[in-house]
Amino acid sequence: MVDLRSQYLRIKTEIDSAIESVLQASAFIQGPEVKEFAQALSIKNQNTHVIPCANGTDALQIAMMALDLKHGDEVILPVHTYVATAEVIALLGLIPIFIDVDANTFNIDVDQIESKITPRTKAIVPVHLYGQCADMEPILKIAKAHNLFVIEDVAQALGAEYTFADGTIKKAGTMGVVGTTSFFPSKNLGAYGDGGAIFTHDSLLAEKMAMIASHGQKVKYHHDVIGINSRLDTLQAAILNVKLKYLHEYTRKRNEAANFYDHELTSCNFLKIPKRAKYSTHVFHQYTLKAKGIDRDDFKKYLEGKGIPSMIYYPVPLHLQKAYQRPGFGIGSFPVTEQLSKTVISIPIHTEMTSEELVYICQTVKEYPRHA
Ligand SMILES: *Cc1c(COP(=O)(O)O)cnc(C)c1O
Repeated sequence: MVDLRSQYLRIKTEIDSAIESVLQASAFIQGPEVKEFAQALSIKNQNTHVIPCANGTDALQIAMMALDLKHGDEVILPVHTYVATAEVIALLGLIPIFIDVDANTFNIDVDQIESKITPRTKAIVPVHLYGQCADMEPILKIAKAHNLFVIEDVAQALGAEYTFADGTIKKAGTMGVVGTTSFFPSKNLGAYGDGGAIFTHDSLLAEKMAMIASHGQKVKYHHDVIGINSRLDTLQAAILNVKLKYLHEYTRKRNEAANFYDHELTSCNFLKIPKRAKYSTHVFHQYTLKAKGIDRDDFKKYLEGKGIPSMIYYPVPLHLQKAYQRPGFGIGSFPVTEQLSKTVISIPIHTEMTSEELVYICQTVKEYPRHA
């Protein structure tokens, strides 16, 4: 699905020297590279404050802790997402309120949000799934009307841009009060281990989130709030500093592959190519097809037999997971997500795809009906 080794080899000299200089200085925790990376990312991200942390899951948790969300508060999120989004909500004693998604964009169905708002609702967490922004303008409007925080989960969409009706363009993660992202190796900006970051325009909130990420302290050994230990390693920051310069090029390469797939696969009547929303650019963290009238799992096996990896994101909807059971949840509760769990299939997309690979994958996909 990804080719992290080839990607490394293309920038090996720069990466090796960045790692070497961290090893020489040996400031493995909070070395200067961490601040450098935060500054560089801030500039790329519309000058938001950037708080680096240990991973994208912690980023969500720190945001929710800093916003003082309390036991029993309700937080709205899409049900078709990675478990981390729901996990931190539940872990903090908050109630995840799932919303079904739009079958075409895979993102939260904005028309279903308002009916789920109660006096206990405190926040909405839109997830920009597979690399494309959720429809933020209506989400921000609803949030404003009901006085809710918007926390954007940007783990899959760093660099994507949203266009408002008046033509204003904003980066994913800069529209809500907080944005959170992940540098898991396979994400669009991937470290060589775990990493994450939080964005906000609010200086006070930024300060509080930095404190929470560091045991609730601003001054060492003076703990003003209850925090956690969530740091980005100096080594990872040094690696990310190098890779950040290539993010734009990486996004371009993912788009080139996606354009090729779109062009070749649009004629396959047993598949539906991913829809591009008018209001968002796409950074193609995943290229996700929908199976139409075929057995998706048989198609997946066929690809595997031809040496083509594929993945199902996500095979079991959150409301059907044991850990997230609640009275009233069952088959039929979120029909679009349930349908997607049976029909989606993501095919390889990354920064190192060759035209031979793309041609082979498309030819093989197109030949499936003859083998089914
Ligand atoms: C990857 C991911 C996360 C979690 O990031 P980690 O760095 O793995 O903790 C959260 N939300 C979404 C949508 C993700 O894809």
